[in-house]
Amino acid sequence: MNNALYVHFPFCMRKCSYCDFDTVPYNEDSVDEYQEHLLKEISLWAEYDVGTVKTMYIGGGSPSLWPGRKLHRFLDRLQKQLDFSPVEFTLECNPQELIDENLSCWETLGVDRLSVGIQSSERRILRSANREAPADLLYRLVKARERFSNVNLDFILGLPGECIKSVCGNLETIKAIGPNHVSYYMLDKDGDSDLMRLYHSGRIELLGTERVNQLHDRILEKMCAMGYDRYEVSSWQRKGSECLHNLAYWKNADYIGIGIAAGGHFGRTRYVNTSDIADYYDLLGKRNFPRDSSKCNTPCEEFLETLFMGLRLVKGVDLAEVLKDKADNVPRIKEILVKVFGPNMVFEDSKVRFTSEGLDLTGRLFAGLSEYREEITSVFSSRDT
Ligand code: SF4
Repeated sequence: MNNALYVHFPFCMRKCSYCDFDTVPYNEDSVDEYQEHLLKEISLWAEYDVGTVKTMYIGGGSPSLWPGRKLHRFLDRLQKQLDFSPVEFTLECNPQELIDENLSCWETLGVDRLSVGIQSSERRILRSANREAPADLLYRLVKARERFSNVNLDFILGLPGECIKSVCGNLETIKAIGPNHVSYYMLDKDGDSDLMRLYHSGRIELLGTERVNQLHDRILEKMCAMGYDRYEVSSWQRKGSECLHNLAYWKNADYIGIGIAAGGHFGRTRYVNTSDIADYYDLLGKRNFPRDSSKCNTPCEEFLETLFMGLRLVKGVDLAEVLKDKADNVPRIKEILVKVFGPNMVFEDSKVRFTSEGLDLTGRLFAGLSEYREEITSVFSSRDT
């Protein structure tokens, strides 16, 4: 079995106002205790047949704050416990930490893919979101690009102060750096963040949906003109640079997540770790998995998860592959999908995918699918639902 391993590093220097992740204020001494517990969690997994780790992703938080010598020790000990042979090893980083010393250290440690959280190239927008904004952003990105052949740049569309000029600035940054992967997310207006509390209490304004959609159309057009293929709702790549680790999520494959608030999917079990660092330490101290929740999916639930995740991909899903021994139900499932998604979905034999308009409506369209849950459930026997 080839597995994806996600390691969560929750520490950050400050809290960006739009962020609703579980983060912990950074303090170098706290990293030792945290990484000792990550290793305890790995030792619990080492008792299972988890196969070879093929993709590794260190996300956060701000993993670029992880001191190099400590990260080295962590990786060294991890490799003594798990069969570790990654074909892709991603480290998320903030532009602030993109300095020669770090770049060289990460390269030495085997990181071969950098995912840089830019969010916006405009310092005014970042400062208003309480995010650090180095004045020499382009210089830092050029340095990172020179050293790493596989680089992702992350952006968010719709932060306070967003306008056509700021979006064009982001597109210029992409053009100047030429990363082989770009993730462009919509600001999550349902998020539980400081920014959204200000917005919902009427103290700040954000762009309306229509304006965001116009800017999104501009992004689609320019990304395409720059030679990028959109392969997932928010992800673009060129030269065959899909993120292999994220593909494991979208294909609902096995992945193990370790660290606070990390989630995983292993076999039919889906779990989420506690987001409370004290609980995390306490549970691992007793040699228990640090779960907040864990559930064994029924085959029907697995099918729905695989459908939801897979339809985020531009190429969609092959229902016959997903339904496996229930593939003779493909026509029934297709009938339901036609009722829910109508012209927003393309059907080719047993394959289904969203049109480009449908991809931009996934949230709303998926809500429609829940009305047909009973019909979908009936495809599976009561034992499987
Ligand atoms: S956006 Fe990233 S850097 Fe900012 S608080 Fe959240 S996890 Fe930390």
